[in-house]
Amino acid sequence: MIKLRDLTLEELKQYMIELGQPPFRAKQIYDWLYKGVTEFSAMGNIPIDLREKLAETCQIDPLQVLREQKSNVDGTRKFLFGLPDGNAVESVYMEYKYGASVCVSSQAGCRMGCAFCASGIDGLVRNLTAGEMLSQVLDIQRETGKPISHVVVMGTGEPFDNYEQLVKFIRLLHAPEGYGMSMRNITVSTCGLVPCIRRFGKDLPQVNLAISLHAPTNALRSELMPINRKYGLSMLLPAVRDYAQETGRRVTFEYALIHGVNDTVEVIGQLIQLIRGMLCHVNLIPLNEVNETGFGTVGRAKAREIATRLEDAGIPCTVRRQLGADIDGACGQLRLAARKSL
Ligand code: SAH
Repeated sequence: MIKLRDLTLEELKQYMIELGQPPFRAKQIYDWLYKGVTEFSAMGNIPIDLREKLAETCQIDPLQVLREQKSNVDGTRKFLFGLPDGNAVESVYMEYKYGASVCVSSQAGCRMGCAFCASGIDGLVRNLTAGEMLSQVLDIQRETGKPISHVVVMGTGEPFDNYEQLVKFIRLLHAPEGYGMSMRNITVSTCGLVPCIRRFGKDLPQVNLAISLHAPTNALRSELMPINRKYGLSMLLPAVRDYAQETGRRVTFEYALIHGVNDTVEVIGQLIQLIRGMLCHVNLIPLNEVNETGFGTVGRAKAREIATRLEDAGIPCTVRRQLGADIDGACGQLRLAARKSL
């Protein structure tokens, strides 16, 4: 079976030619797909015999909403989606002044094992396909009835551990004949797979890049993020500098504030030393607590105080709003929720 949401328009054209159909049919079908249509019978301008052929040979595979939770505080909605093979992933819908944003998962589970994050607790199950990432956007748009203007690949999984499909997903999302989302409205976050940072700067230089930093020394970072043992700060920082220079774009460093671990005067001093003068921005995230990890968070006031210290050192800085915390939809709270656990 052909999975239609994985196809570029060109690939769908090829298939139409194989079927002896005029290539313009591909664009008609593509329009329906990106309108979110999930049944061939709804493709009004497609001849019935072609619709039947499509139904025999192709699948649209919309995600199944297994559960939806709505925040009582901020309009954030978290979806638990069932994949065709019985696995499940979470995606989050968020409303901002500038539009609606979807936080997309790139893998079912995660193998990076960061000490403070819920997503890696049960390890990696599998990579998602480009079409499955796209489906999170199309199906949330259908469920909410709101046009999605922004995408952040900050859900479960390490996007650069699924590089090929990630890049394909972004190209599908951006294609003018597809979803048509501006590259500038797309952000990818990585825990620091250095070779992929370098590749990404060349492949998709207009997409925003965020780096999960969380600690300014190798000793502390390796304790919190096992990936640092492979790609330490002496590899990560030069890659980020080169990325900023080659793309001319500011990189965001994410820094989850963990009480008594990386929020002390001393550690923040080390952070300033490490990144001062770089083309960057720091996003402080008061840790979202995850039961299993035992780490504690810091208050908003403390986060503001640290932000001021960074700004005084000339480092642009914001404190992230905490959306969806009451539904465990906030950063680091998404986890593998297999069907059997429902
Ligand atoms: N694997 C990618 C994508 C995940 S993005 C990455 O590591 O960047 C999710 C962001 O939330 C990352 O910056 C991650 O480090 C951060 N995060 C994880 N657990 C968190 C927690 N408990 N509280 C706040 N942020 C957390």
